[in-house]
Amino acid sequence: MIAAPFDYVAAESATHALELLDSFGDDAKLLAGGHSLLPMMKLRLAAPSVLIDIGRLAELTGIRADGDELVIGAATTHATLAASDLVRADAPLLAHSAGLVGDPQIRHRGTIGGSLAHADPAADLPMALLALGGSVEVLGGDGTRNVAAEDLFAGFFETSLEPGELIAWVRVPRRPGRAWGYQKFVRRANDWAIVGAAAIEGRIALANMGPVPLRARAAEQALAGGASVAEAAELAAEGTEPGEDLHADRGYRRHLARVLARRALEHRT
Ligand code: FAD
Repeated sequence: MIAAPFDYVAAESATHALELLDSFGDDAKLLAGGHSLLPMMKLRLAAPSVLIDIGRLAELTGIRADGDELVIGAATTHATLAASDLVRADAPLLAHSAGLVGDPQIRHRGTIGGSLAHADPAADLPMALLALGGSVEVLGGDGTRNVAAEDLFAGFFETSLEPGELIAWVRVPRRPGRAWGYQKFVRRANDWAIVGAAAIEGRIALANMGPVPLRARAAEQALAGGASVAEAAELAAEGTEPGEDLHADRGYRRHLARVLARRALEHRT
């Protein structure tokens, strides 16, 4: 499949990208790694007339510690996250999840900001950010605002970003030495999750159990109330409305959520 014709502009800075977004309006889309956007364009599910490339902006790449948080540039690739000593030490769940995305080619091009903005409920990094209680710094015409992961995912492939805004940095609480578990049930190695579960410090996040990544609140509350892992995990699918596709029907997804939540809690490292 071939994408509809489009123009390409390489932004010179994040501010320049915002100016370009403002001047091109709805016709424009940001381009980071292109590993979600370009397939959508080839399938003609997206047909922006202008792509604004932010994938090479040094100011949007890199990882640093800032107090009790890690600050990760939105254009940082999955491969960089997976290999980062800082992320592996302070947010190992995130490094692990990034290392499970697609194949090496995808991990070398795909970015954390692109993955979060794309908001695929089956994706790895949105579930990881939700489990970790992270947030994003969003740049727009009115300045910078911080959006918690809980509030970022608004619907199926939809975020709460306003037109003309971009994710600049991702903030992740530093959790060195805390036990965590990460499970995804996949058709092929390193594929999108049919269902996924990530657990850390009493928080449990689920992938592909609804239109957005979700917290398994009933299971979390049971754990906090002293329930065993097995008892809590039985509640992991409560309140979820997973979709159905050729990989799994709703009942099977609910079963997977219970099994994977239990494994994520039992096999914490
Ligand atoms: P792009 O494709 O460049 O952009 C995606 C969307 O986000 C676009 O709408 C774009 O305008 C917007 N955007 C990009 N950056 C920003 C920003 N900073 N602020 C606001 N909006 C922005 N993902 C998984 O999680 N798990 C998998 O197992 C997996 N397997 C894959 C297998 C294949 C074959 C492919 C092609 C992709 C796979 N992916 C998987 C998706 C991959 O992780 C993508 O790279 C990622 O979802 C999107 O990141 P990107 O940088 O490529 O974004």
